[in-house]
Amino acid sequence: MKYDIIVAGGGMSGVAAAVAAGRQGKRVLLVEQSGMLGGLGTSGLMTMVMTSRKWFYGIGREILETLRDRGEARWIDDYPVKDYERIPFDAESMKRRLDEIVAESGAEMLLYTKIIGVKKDGACISALQLNGPTGNFWVEADVFIDSTGDGMLSFYAGEDFDLGDENGNTQAPTMTAYYAGIDFDRYEAFLKTFEDGPAIPKVNMIRALVPKAVEDGVLSVCDLHHPGIFRISPCFNVGVMNAGHIYGADCLTPEGLTRATVAGRKMAKEYLDFYRRYVPGFEKAYMTNTCSYLGLRETRRIRGKYMTTFADKAAYRKFPDAIMRFDGGAVSDVHASSADKKAYEAYYQLFTAARATVREDDWAELPYRSLVPMKTKNLLIAGRCLSADRQVQGQLRIMGYCFMMGQAAGTAAGIAIDSGKMPPDIDVGALQQQLRKDGVEI
Ligand SMILES: Cc1cc2nc3c(=O)[nH]c(=O)nc-3n(C[C@H](O)[C@H](O)[C@H](O)COP(=O)(O)OP(=O)(O)OC[C@H]3O[C@@H](n4cnc5c(N)ncnc54)[C@H](O)[C@@H]3O)c2cc1C
Repeated sequence: MKYDIIVAGGGMSGVAAAVAAGRQGKRVLLVEQSGMLGGLGTSGLMTMVMTSRKWFYGIGREILETLRDRGEARWIDDYPVKDYERIPFDAESMKRRLDEIVAESGAEMLLYTKIIGVKKDGACISALQLNGPTGNFWVEADVFIDSTGDGMLSFYAGEDFDLGDENGNTQAPTMTAYYAGIDFDRYEAFLKTFEDGPAIPKVNMIRALVPKAVEDGVLSVCDLHHPGIFRISPCFNVGVMNAGHIYGADCLTPEGLTRATVAGRKMAKEYLDFYRRYVPGFEKAYMTNTCSYLGLRETRRIRGKYMTTFADKAAYRKFPDAIMRFDGGAVSDVHASSADKKAYEAYYQLFTAARATVREDDWAELPYRSLVPMKTKNLLIAGRCLSADRQVQGQLRIMGYCFMMGQAAGTAAGIAIDSGKMPPDIDVGALQQQLRKDGVEI
């Protein structure tokens, strides 16, 4: 079987890539190992898109606006920082919407199908080896897009990558969970009692309650970094809980990932006990499920023709081959690799106080070259495995940006097919023109 383009991984970046390429009339196959599209946004239970307030365009926006119009997502403007926007969505509606938009684009998809290897012909990938319910088989294509989050396809193709800080420490993963039966009115009233502290009420609450819960033996780790509960719908008392860092996890080996997953499930129960015991409104909360795909914040960052850096973001740097805008300034969201209080304070400083560096009407730019890996000529990368230093990856990994990277990669792949060129050699002006035509502001 031969396709024009194969997109590896059906998270938000992969869906946007497949849709962009499908809409250009290309023969596209989207391959996803799980039973649903959406990646960390659905099987990872992170059912709240975070994105730039100003620089969020294209297929991702279209998906969320359709959900909003159907009453299945809503824009929230109450985030205590001016550059971010939050869009909680209904997980089941998102899964159906992603199925729908991929089908409408003409792209084909295979769920329950895992990429397990590649065949190379010189510096090009010629085929992918897949494993599905019928066993192993091969599919061929001219251009490939790695949107596996972990950079699996690039890894199989022999690309170099970076992992974590200079000691290999990565941002800790989290086992997110859904709680039902929360009395949000009482929770919000309780939060108000923490308004007088040095930080936002939720952070003040955590700083007050977590050490006590450790003393009482309810929590086993004194982890002050705790994003907390996010309500999914204004009508239902359901929230997604983002709490509990699995420090020291090694998520690139089967043993490490298994250990982290088991530890995460145990931790999720500890946090349920914590909320039930100390936080009014949670007495009758019920944990309906934990995520089926462990919340990995950071694994492989594939080395591309250009490694986007935090310095570029801080300086609002512009590039001639820009494919998207994102929020500039010296703000980052790199979760610590240990529960050490100093590490948390350093995180908090970069996530909050540094916001003074945010300019209202300016933006940073992501160059196309950060989606083009160093070695393999017919491969593009999109999503959280992009070519970036870890500090800027901490910001670019949010779903709003993953959608936009995916759209750029899918569009570039289509242009490569039409022009008979390899992705590194395409006319970037034509790519920018097509993206603008498709609603992306560059
Ligand atoms: C705990 C946590 C909280 C977060 N909170 C938010 C938030 O509130 N808002 C926000 O916008 N972002 C948040 N993020 C970040 C965001 O969810 C992710 O970075 C983003 O969804 C990544 O999208 P992606 O498409 O790059 O990869 P992923 O979502 O990881 O998707 C990759 C897909 O590829 C598939 N895949 C992998 N390997 C293979 C293979 N070999 N064969 C076939 N398929 C494969 C996977 O099954 C998966 O579906 C959070 C992340 C975490 C971990």
